[in-house]
Amino acid sequence: MAKTTKKTGFGSLCVQPGKTDKIILPHNEPIYATTAYTFESTDHALSLFDDHHKGYVYSRWGNPTVTMAEVKIAAMETFGSERKAKAQLFSSGMAAIAAVLLSCAKAGDTILTQNQLYGTTDELMQKQLRDWNINITRCDLNDIKAVTTILKNDKHIKLIYIETPSNPMMEIFDIQSISAVAKKYGCRVAVDNTFSSPYCQRPLLLGADFSVHSATKYLNGHGSGLGGVVIGLDIPFMKNEMWNKVKLLGANSNAFDSWLLLQGLKTLELRMERHCENAKKVAAFLSANKYVSKVNYCGDKQHPQKNIIKKQMLAHSGMLSFELKGGLKAGIKLMNKVKVCKMVTSLGTLDTLIQHPASMTHVNVPRDRRMAAGITDGLVRLSVGIENVQDIIDDLSQGLGK
Ligand SMILES: *Cc1c(COP(=O)(O)O)cnc(C)c1O
Repeated sequence: MAKTTKKTGFGSLCVQPGKTDKIILPHNEPIYATTAYTFESTDHALSLFDDHHKGYVYSRWGNPTVTMAEVKIAAMETFGSERKAKAQLFSSGMAAIAAVLLSCAKAGDTILTQNQLYGTTDELMQKQLRDWNINITRCDLNDIKAVTTILKNDKHIKLIYIETPSNPMMEIFDIQSISAVAKKYGCRVAVDNTFSSPYCQRPLLLGADFSVHSATKYLNGHGSGLGGVVIGLDIPFMKNEMWNKVKLLGANSNAFDSWLLLQGLKTLELRMERHCENAKKVAAFLSANKYVSKVNYCGDKQHPQKNIIKKQMLAHSGMLSFELKGGLKAGIKLMNKVKVCKMVTSLGTLDTLIQHPASMTHVNVPRDRRMAAGITDGLVRLSVGIENVQDIIDDLSQGLGK
């Protein structure tokens, strides 16, 4: 005879979690919208507090939907190799970047980086980290002799931080050569891989210790969710130092954002193929246009670092920038005339996004500093979308013309 249990009150019935007696094999990933997880027994609880990576305790620590996205991204970043990596998701790209910097460098340490970085990364280093007594040194990272001298002379350098291709000039840095020198001096290397996505570039397979993304961009692709991710080969380091930034600073992702990310990841290859194909055609159109003086694009045969590109990139991405002969006035005119290209300061979405730093993101940066970084009055950044390419070209053509 089945064990009879005392019937609970109506209120107790109300607060019970819902149940089903059917076998659940969901085709798509469920959104685990739960803050915490129940323990089967004290032994079970003890085992999880001993090693939380065995299961789930609390969703700031980990969540099944978050894990599903992490496992997939780690596999993407090591695809084509036998290497095993661990990914840690964060609330945004900046949270992921901050976690890498803070897990590698402590007060008194130095981070070596390139002269030009994504604006907020620059601000994080120059303002926040300096306040915490973490120093920033810069040089041309492709000058391996200079990098070697700096590493030789400063034993406090714990991390080399690379952004390649760089925003917005598409400058390329040699991940393999820089990582090789760093290794000699016991220094870690992190690469911001946002502009490439693991479809175009896999820094871990080139010798870097960490690949970092703003998942807000190509990894999501739909422009509906923010996210960041760090992928690393040193599993114990990822499980401890890196995870601590999630647990202690509360920089965790959540089930809904991770679910959005999972939906985006499914079409990454298809999207990237089209982004790359369209960008190649748009770059060719711009190069031949009489109002354009220069195009910065990784697929350009004239790119100053074309040999490094050949060595480290699998494809050329959908990102490019170009310079207008007519300067600021021409930039403003183009911005106000385009219709297919959207004036948005993000990138990596399905639609084409256009940005004019001199009249938009960089209006508050003193002109001489902006110019020194190569961000001239006529520079325009384009994140080429997956539209029918002729529509993008026609739109730019009418925007550039009289
Ligand atoms: C957008 C971006 C970031 C910051 O990511 P968020 O998700 O906005 O925090 C960092 N690096 C690069 C290259 C980016 O494009």
